[in-house]
Amino acid sequence: MMAKLIDGRAIAEKVYVDLRRETAELKAQGVTPGLAVILVGDDAASRAYVRSKDKMCRELGLHSVKLELPASTTQSELLARVEEFNRDSSIHGILVQSPPPEHIDEAAIVRALDPRKDVDGFHPENVAKLVLEDASGFVPCTALGVQRLLLESEIAISGAHIVVLGRSLIVGKPLALLLMQKNKNGNATVTVVHSRSRSLPQITRSADVVVAAIGRAEFLKADHIHEGAVVIDVGINRVEDAASERGYRLVGDVAFDEVSKKASAITPVPGGVGPMTIAMLMANTVKAARQLGSGGSPEPTKGD
Ligand code: NDP
Repeated sequence: MMAKLIDGRAIAEKVYVDLRRETAELKAQGVTPGLAVILVGDDAASRAYVRSKDKMCRELGLHSVKLELPASTTQSELLARVEEFNRDSSIHGILVQSPPPEHIDEAAIVRALDPRKDVDGFHPENVAKLVLEDASGFVPCTALGVQRLLLESEIAISGAHIVVLGRSLIVGKPLALLLMQKNKNGNATVTVVHSRSRSLPQITRSADVVVAAIGRAEFLKADHIHEGAVVIDVGINRVEDAASERGYRLVGDVAFDEVSKKASAITPVPGGVGPMTIAMLMANTVKAARQLGSGGSPEPTKGD
């Protein structure tokens, strides 16, 4: 039987309905959530991501600042711009589009962000808050998006065995931490596999939910899952396709055609996790505005 398709675009739209309401409430209190995105260099894919973030902010009525800097920008110039946004009370969320040019020390830039405005959730203080289960912190958007997809699709997380493929700081690691949290949206039994894992197919076959985030085109095959498992595909990979006008097409980390015949539910690529990542960036920006207000200190939101 064909798996149920988990429609990331439709679920993201639901998130936007809530965010529009919350934004209107904040505006009524004199606070317009503001996001600043800094792009260094002229990487085409990064430019497209930044454009779509800016567009979504505007659609939601958020204040959006897009700062495009040349590839020759120095570390200290970039730090100075981050500092300006840290001090700017009209800005509640700041992100520096990754990857920056090679001469930039990305980790140092992340550490320079005011953690209360770190809507990407990469600052050490926010990583610590995720581990400590302090809900006032920011969780990386893709991980948050995967959790939200599961919740909105009413797929049981609590007590389920969830296998996450990939242990990156952006996706795999924060997702594992999020799903194992001791709260109603967590409580999963999480296994993380990576490039050094032995018996990977055996492990993934024992999963109720498999999340693939490894960046290997169509890696996960039908043989990797048990009948009726739920499959979430985070991967975005370009594969050559002479039949396509662009010369390539986008595929996930999951061999969709064969896996969708065995899974009970699956996300497509595109249209699955991707739209949720940007929705969660908007959600994190609104949360930052709620916590910071018009520039004051954050409200305590533990247990939020
Ligand atoms: P990284 O390259 O940072 O991490 C990949 C992870 O996968 C590593 O932990 C690596 O293991 C593991 N891995 C690689 N090959 C294998 C293998 N053959 N078997 C098992 N594990 C393997 O990637 P990201 O986490 O940044 O991204 C993963 C994918 O998700 C990419 O396709 C990316 O484009 C996509 N992505 C999509 C987003 C979205 O919004 N939909 C957002 C972010 C990413 P090890 O640690 O041992 O090297």
